[in-house]
Amino acid sequence: MRVGIFGGTFDPIHMGHMIVAEQVRDELSMERVVFVPSGIPPHKEASSVRAPAEDRYEMVLAAIAGNERFLADRIEIDAGRPMHTVETVPLLKERLPGDEWFFITGADEVSNLLSWKDPDRLLEEVVMVAATRPGYDLSRLGHLEDRLKNFDRIFPVECTRVDISATGIRRRILQGKSIRYLVPEGVHEIITRRRLYRADGRQSRGELLKEEGS
Ligand code: ATP
Repeated sequence: MRVGIFGGTFDPIHMGHMIVAEQVRDELSMERVVFVPSGIPPHKEASSVRAPAEDRYEMVLAAIAGNERFLADRIEIDAGRPMHTVETVPLLKERLPGDEWFFITGADEVSNLLSWKDPDRLLEEVVMVAATRPGYDLSRLGHLEDRLKNFDRIFPVECTRVDISATGIRRRILQGKSIRYLVPEGVHEIITRRRLYRADGRQSRGELLKEEGS
């Protein structure tokens, strides 16, 4: 069974992520894609993550609802500390069924692979799928060829270009603009109900629970 691991901050998860996950899954005939929201990402400042881990995780659950090939795993969230991909992947392989493993990520992130922890060891564990936009210049990955023993384990997959980013979504919210259809409907509902990413912050836990229970 082929399994794709899709890691990200998912702050929030959006249609760009959904389209990449679906098109890569289809292209490589993966049985499952497991979304792994990061706890505190090692490469991002803790302060740059804007929604609490539990909210980001619940938004991932809402996004994948109804797609039996998509699952979510909270391993990095439960760790409560930064985890590198090379550390997460073997643990996921132990707890999920699968024989062929892929790690899905944007081509731009792959071009920075030398700054990841133990990239060659990671490439022994997984084939790295570099999701590219149409027209992406693959020579931008060329500098890795001489530096990585396992360069041939990087596999580009061309995906529909969707110019949506979590940063852009958070900015629109701050500007009071609509983000409907940029994120799955269930994610939109959570963001609206919990007032995520707004300057005035979240409602109190008590208020939220009362509202969600009603
Ligand atoms: P931010 O804007 O906060 O940096 P992001 O939208 O890039 O966030 P991440 O959670 O950091 O979201 O992304 C997870 C992975 O999805 C990354 O590998 C990223 O390159 C990829 N990705 C995000 N948005 C897109 C998109 N629109 N098209 C293709 N890949 C994307």
